[in-house]
Amino acid sequence: MRTGKDLELVGLTKRYGDAVAVAGIDHVFSNGSYVCLLGPSGCGKSTTLRMIAGHESVSDGSVVLDGKDISRLPPAKRGTAMMFQSYALFPHLSVRDNVSFSLRMKGEAKEVRHKAADEMLELVDMSHLADRMPDQLSGGQQQRVALARALVTRPRVLLLDEPLSALDPFLRIRVRAELKRLQRELGITFIHVTHGQDEALALADEIVVMNNAVIEQAGPARDVFSAPRTEFVARFMGGHNVLTVDGTPCALRADHTLLAPAGAGGRDAVVTSVEYQGDRVAVTARMEGEELLALVPDAAFFADPKSPGEAVRLSWDEGRLHRLQA
Ligand code: ADP
Repeated sequence: MRTGKDLELVGLTKRYGDAVAVAGIDHVFSNGSYVCLLGPSGCGKSTTLRMIAGHESVSDGSVVLDGKDISRLPPAKRGTAMMFQSYALFPHLSVRDNVSFSLRMKGEAKEVRHKAADEMLELVDMSHLADRMPDQLSGGQQQRVALARALVTRPRVLLLDEPLSALDPFLRIRVRAELKRLQRELGITFIHVTHGQDEALALADEIVVMNNAVIEQAGPARDVFSAPRTEFVARFMGGHNVLTVDGTPCALRADHTLLAPAGAGGRDAVVTSVEYQGDRVAVTARMEGEELLALVPDAAFFADPKSPGEAVRLSWDEGRLHRLQA
């Protein structure tokens, strides 16, 4: 629902010389939503984020917040705040002073700064470490401080550029749950740039898939995954096979691609690889010159295991085919 408080991109464009990094994108980010900007490296995600933040000038078009064009305002005046990929903290300042730094720049009194910083540190569960120096913190703790530092300005929109990429896989899953909780508690818009599909699916109310400087598809995470509009989205989101049926490209979810013994119904294929994934097994098979992926629940696979080189049949329910834009 449009509230009038949304963040809106109107024909937003960035050119570097002759190269177009962002090509006239239009989008409305609903107020209070968690949005992931998802796409392969070089598709224009970070440039879009930096134009929203004011760290990159806009070549054409505008960024509108609360119905006001903010595209020419300095970063601190926009109502947005950015958490960078390398969330380098000032090494010579304590955690509390790092968090209150932007308020010091604004000339706020020490009492006011510290009160605001302590509130934010409480929010990210770091109050007990307020007097530490950054080099006495773990990576995950430094990141929370960076978050508190971005949030202390009370932004309407928090911009996060690959915020989880520096963390190990275990911590990444924990921190992403914390980001989601924080967004819910604060009720502000989070725009999170990532090239990880799993990350976007786990976090986003809305996924905006970018490719070649444009928005390829935007919508609720479940829609983007289960109803990709184009072959690019189907392949990029993963978990899909793309088949040509009557000259039209169709997506078929890998978990709806069924493996049967040779001689059963379906089409002939030869297993090319088998990868155990814990709860399921990823079986790749070559069918009519195309590699297809079948995700088989582990119990079903081990009831009748397959090896590379074995002949199998692949089948699917025709109703599971999802037509893509040609
Ligand atoms: P992403 O974040 O999706 O990886 P970027 O927004 O960083 O992509 O980059 C989009 C395109 O713009 C890329 O082709 C990149 O090389 C180009 N680009 C980004 N920043 C600059 C710059 N400062 N000067 C010239 N080209 C740039």
